Amino acid sequence: MRPIRRGDRGPAVTEIRSVLTRLDTSFPAGDLFDEETERAVRAFQQQRGLTVGGDVDEETWLALDAARWRLGARALFHAIPHPLIGEDVRTLQERLLEMGYDVGRPDSVYGTRTAKAVGQFQREVGLAPDGAFGPQTMNALRRLGRKVVGGRPQLLREAEAFRQSGPHLLGKTVVIDPGHGGPDQGIIVPDGPLRWTESELAFDLASRLEGRLAGAGMRVHLTRGPSPAARIPDKARAQLANDLHADLLISIHIDGYKTAEADGVATYHYGDGTSEGVTSTVAERLAGLVQREIVARTGLRNCHIHAKTWDLLRLTRMPAVRVEIGYLTSPHDRTRLVDPLFREQTIEAIVAAVQRMYFPVENDVPTGSIDVRQLRMAVAAGLPIKA
Ligand SMILES: [Zn+2]
Repeated sequence: MRPIRRGDRGPAVTEIRSVLTRLDTSFPAGDLFDEETERAVRAFQQQRGLTVGGDVDEETWLALDAARWRLGARALFHAIPHPLIGEDVRTLQERLLEMGYDVGRPDSVYGTRTAKAVGQFQREVGLAPDGAFGPQTMNALRRLGRKVVGGRPQLLREAEAFRQSGPHLLGKTVVIDPGHGGPDQGIIVPDGPLRWTESELAFDLASRLEGRLAGAGMRVHLTRGPSPAARIPDKARAQLANDLHADLLISIHIDGYKTAEADGVATYHYGDGTSEGVTSTVAERLAGLVQREIVARTGLRNCHIHAKTWDLLRLTRMPAVRVEIGYLTSPHDRTRLVDPLFREQTIEAIVAAVQRMYFPVENDVPTGSIDVRQLRMAVAAGLPIKA
C-alpha cells in the first residue's frame, strides 16, 4: 500500500483518526490527515516500537487495525495457527500481569501463555477454565476492578476475590469430602480385636467438621454418608461440589505406608508442580492455612503442602484441598487418631483455617490464635468477625 501521510484526505484517514480517538478520547474525528494526526501517529508508533515516521505505512496500518479492538468487544481465544492480535489482548495481558499472572511481556498476541493465564484466572474465580476470554470472564475481571495492583499481587488478588464474598462464613457453601467409603475402606489397620479404617475415621472427622462449620453459619454438604453402597469416584465428588456451586471443598483422608516409620500431616492443592505451571493460588493459600493450623494445634509432623493434578482438585471449580491427617500405619499417629479429643483438635484447626481464608490478608492473625468458640458467639450475635 501507498503510505497515508500528511495532506491526505478520505475514508482511510477517517478510519485512522477513529482508531486514534479510541486510544485517546480527546483526539477529534475527521477525514484530513493534518499535523495533529501526524503527531498522534508518531506517538502511537513510538509507543508500539514501530518505525517512527508519522506516515501510516503497512506496518503501522496493521498495528492501528489491531488497536481498534477494545477489551470485551469480541471473544478472545487461542487461535491456531494465526493467533488473535489486538489492543484488547494487550489490555487483558496488562490486567493479568497486574494481578500477578504470568503472561510474559504484553505483546498483544493471544498465544499459549496468555490462554494459560486466562485459564488460571478462570479457575480461581470459579469459571470453567477453558482459556478463552468471553463475556463471563470479562465480567469476573470487571468485578475485581483495578484495585489489585502492586505489592504481593497473588495474595492481594486472593484477598480481593474472597473479600467480594464478605469476611464471614455465614451463607458460604462448603463441601466436605470424607475419602473412600463403602466397599473402598482406604487404609486398614488391625488393632487386636478391632480394626481401624481410613474411611470410618475420615467420615467421623468430616461429620465433626460439618457440625462446626454449620454452627458457624456455613451451608455444609458431605459427599457421602457413613457407608455408601458403592465406591464413589473422585470425579463424581468433584461434580457434586460443582453442582452445589460450593465456595470451598475440603477432602479428608488419612495416609498409610508400607512401613510404620512414616507419619505426619500433608495438604494438597491443585497445581502441576512446575514453577511456571498452573496452580490455584487460592487453594494453595487454604492448603497452607490448614497445614499450619493442624501442625500448630496438634504437633503432627509437618509434611508440608504439595501441588497435585488429582481429579478432585483438577475438576472442581472452587478452591479445593485434600488433607491427609496423619498415618494410620504409624503407631504414633494412630494412637492420636483414635482419640476423639485429638480429632476434635484437628477439626478446630481446619475451622480456624477456613475462617482465616475470609479475613483480608492484612487482618490475618497468627496461626493457632483463633478461638473458634468466640467466633461462633460472634456469628450467633450477628457481629462481624474480627481478628
Ligand atoms: Zn485416602
